[in-house]
Formats: sequence, structure tokens, C-alpha cells
Amino acid sequence: MRLRYSILLLIIALVTALLWRGLMPQPQQKTPERSAHKPEIAGGIRLSFPLACTLGKSCWIARYSDRAEGTEKTDYSCQHRTQDNHRGTDFAIADLGQMRTGVSVLAAASGTVKGVRSNEPDISIKARGKDAIEGKECGNGLLIEHTDGWTTQYCHLKQNSPTVKPGDSVKAGQIIGAVGLSGQTEYPHMHFAVRKNGTRIDPFDGQPLTSACNAAKPTPLWAEPIAYSPFALVSVTLSTAPPTAKTRWDAPAKTLSHKAPALVVTGRVFGSQKGDEWQLVIRKPDGSVFSRQKVAIKNDRQFWLQYNGRKKPATGFAPGVWPGVWPGVWTGEVTISRSIKDSTPIIKKLTTSIVMK
Ligand SMILES: [Zn+2]
Repeated sequence: MRLRYSILLLIIALVTALLWRGLMPQPQQKTPERSAHKPEIAGGIRLSFPLACTLGKSCWIARYSDRAEGTEKTDYSCQHRTQDNHRGTDFAIADLGQMRTGVSVLAAASGTVKGVRSNEPDISIKARGKDAIEGKECGNGLLIEHTDGWTTQYCHLKQNSPTVKPGDSVKAGQIIGAVGLSGQTEYPHMHFAVRKNGTRIDPFDGQPLTSACNAAKPTPLWAEPIAYSPFALVSVTLSTAPPTAKTRWDAPAKTLSHKAPALVVTGRVFGSQKGDEWQLVIRKPDGSVFSRQKVAIKNDRQFWLQYNGRKKPATGFAPGVWPGVWPGVWTGEVTISRSIKDSTPIIKKLTTSIVMK
């Protein structure tokens, strides 16, 4: 009898304890350490994002590293967002206006500065010529040495932007310079290279650049995962004339004259592909369509810009109901649609607007 009583008491105690646990607030679960995602390679390194911008919004991947032998070009995912023998990752910003405002370059990991160059001018290679940058293709650059034989290199920085000197210790995320247009480049971007004991490593899968794409066991080096970008729609701008090779990276105008001869919308993309469908639209201040063009892209290109526009209407561009107080805001839209076999298409759209005064 006693035994039965004791068992009954034990069961009641157990049930009460379980209920109590369920009712009481539980002690806060410890967030799993990020180290749970650490790449599992010997002497691994974790890289933080090396720019002070938002990937896909204010900066974009222009090119990945080339993983193909010979003259082929293949990025780590076996697609073609690279150029032959490109040995690093290019992070682009929207235009030269952004460069002038300043987009900081950040140390991807803690370490010691080994080399700095900072006196090269921010001039496109198209204007400066290859001879002028021979041996200085990196332009203004920085080399940082980390633990276990890892180094990171940052190229094409803005003139005099490096904030550190050889021998300085840097912390991951520390500002070390700004994105520029120095060395072998024709648009503002930062070329980022990673090496382990001198061997170039692709940070997107942790493999040497000499190894094949679509690695069986990818071990990305990024502390925060970075998804593959099949293409990057960088900007949409409105202007009064089509862009030229000289003006294509200029900052867009803030306002335009309503007497301008034409209005043109331009989209710029990295990773353009045959079959991509573009739609370029300009809308009047009342939202109605002023011009619309649909275009199918004919060739694969690392960089492409497409524009469309219309001449000034007989009455000029509507400057607004009450110019100066209620200005005419014209809108440009670019939509790119890419069909993917057995999958939903990838669609990217950007809009911009401008005041016609
Ligand atoms: Zn590059």
C-alpha cells in the first residue's frame, strides 16, 4: 500500500514538475555561436564584407574569379560572370558620384598591413592608357596579412584614401580606404583578392582558383553567406541624351530642363545574357507612358547598358502644374526578365525619377 502511495506521489511530483516547466518562462536559449558556420578547412579564415555598402542595393558584384583553364571563363558556380584570367572579385558601386561621396573599404579580417599605395590618380584606364599603369595595375591598393598564411588585397582605391600604413594592426571591419578608379579599371570598383600561402583562393567556395567550378564541398570564407548573383542591375538613370563611353559612369543629373531636346532612360547591368528581356519605360508626371521599349538581348556580356528615349514633345516636357511648387516629376523604369529552364524567371526592376524644371 505504502509502495503504491509512494509511486503515486512520485508520479504527481513528476507531472507537476513537467507542467511547471512548461508554464514557467524558460531561461533564454543561448544563440548558437556564429562559429557553428565556420568553414571547415584547415587554418580557415572568416571574412567580413569588405565594403561599407549594401550588396544588391548600393554595391554589386561585377565579376567573380575565373575558374576555367585557358581562354574559357567560368565563375565558381560554373556560370560566366567573370573574364578570362580574372583573379579576384570585383565589387562595383553605382557611379562616379558615389565614388566622390565615398564608399569605405573595410578590412575583411584582422591582421597587419603589409603594403599600401595611395598616390595614383582616379582616371579611367580608357583615358590614361595601359602604359601609364604598367606594374601598378592594382592602382591604389592595400595588402593585409592575417593568421595562418592568409592575405587579403584591395585594389583600385581612391587616391589618398588609404587610412593605414605598413606595420599597422587592423581589426576586421575597420575602414582602410575608399572605392576609387585607380589602376586598370574603367569604372569605380574594388577588386578583392584572397590568398593562402600565396595561392589564390575564391572566397565564394574556399577553393583555389585553379580548381574546377561547382566544388563538391564548397567552404565559403564569408562570415555572412553571400548568395550567387546571376546578374546585377546596377542603376537606372534619366538624361537628355544617350550615354557615351565617356559619360556612362557619371553621376546622374538631379534635375533636367523641360526644354531639353529629348528624354532618355538607361539601365546598366553586370552579367548580361543572351535572351534577357528588357523593358524600358519613361512615365509622364501623371503616370501615363511617354515611351516604352521591349528588347531581347542578343549576346552574353559582362557589362551592358541599354537605353531608350523620345524627342521632346511639341509643348516641351511638362514642368509641372505649378513649376517650382509642384514640379513635373518624370519617372524611368527598367525591368529585366531572365527565363530559367524548369524554374521561375528572375526579374529585376529599378526605377528613378527626376524633376523637369
Ligand atoms: Zn578585378
